[in-house]
Amino acid sequence: MNVKAFTYRDDRGNYYIGVEWDGKRYNFSLLWEYYKQFAAKGKGPTLQFLQVMIELGFFELDTFKEVVETVSSFRSLNDLELRGSERIDLPVSRPQKVLCLGRNYKAHAEEWGATVPEEPIIFAKLASALTPHNSPIRLPDWPGSVEHEIELAVIVGKAGRVHSEEEAWEYVAGYTIANDVTARDLQLADFKKCWPWLRSKSFDTFGPLGPVVVPRQVFPEPPELNMTLRVNGEVRQQANTREMVFGIPRILVEISKFATLTPGDVILTGTPAGTGPLQPGDVVEAEIEGIGVLFNSVVAG
Ligand code: MG
Repeated sequence: MNVKAFTYRDDRGNYYIGVEWDGKRYNFSLLWEYYKQFAAKGKGPTLQFLQVMIELGFFELDTFKEVVETVSSFRSLNDLELRGSERIDLPVSRPQKVLCLGRNYKAHAEEWGATVPEEPIIFAKLASALTPHNSPIRLPDWPGSVEHEIELAVIVGKAGRVHSEEEAWEYVAGYTIANDVTARDLQLADFKKCWPWLRSKSFDTFGPLGPVVVPRQVFPEPPELNMTLRVNGEVRQQANTREMVFGIPRILVEISKFATLTPGDVILTGTPAGTGPLQPGDVVEAEIEGIGVLFNSVVAG
């Protein structure tokens, strides 16, 4: 059973959690309220944002299953179905950190004339760069070439430090799709000067993320998912997440050597070969098997 969850805004501007269940999309925030009435006399938190659901430790495949199945056992779900006018928001609205992996696919390292690193290369992207599904990527006029990078994003579900790869999976809430948009000329120029490459990764809108989060329990561990990035319908990047140099458990252990993981943190696991330039007017579709398609247009300014 695949379950996809998302935060959305309705046409009155109210935020809710949505769930895709058996091919249909429902208002999960309202399902949760019915479930609370049934199971806990109305007691319990309100859930309007995935970030909060993740922070409270409710983001599990079993939670969605229990809520949907319980409520559908005593009432029809027809009036809770979404009509398609909802606007998908960021899957996590305020992550404490967005960390990224450099050169984590062999073919991508080689297209840069570089080798695969001996240890994971970890760098940060500002959370203010994140932008939701269906929103534009804005290209400023000064930093030169800007490129796309499709990546599997891990959403952290548990606070703490991961000491061994064996315990790593329990820190994963789920998975979504990221585009680690990069001002490539600026990145290379900064790199030559031994400057950090933070700004080339962190322009506003250089972090498309979403549209949905799939709970970790849906996929095998490690997830082996086909990923494809298309620009104007043309395939630019194609790979499988099994080709990562350092897998998700190792990445979480390495991050934990310097930082405590916090629910809602976003970890971009690296991009495969085929990164290339974006132009105003382009339409970018980043697709990962079992998760969906992250759609963003490209505009100037
Ligand atoms: Mg990247």
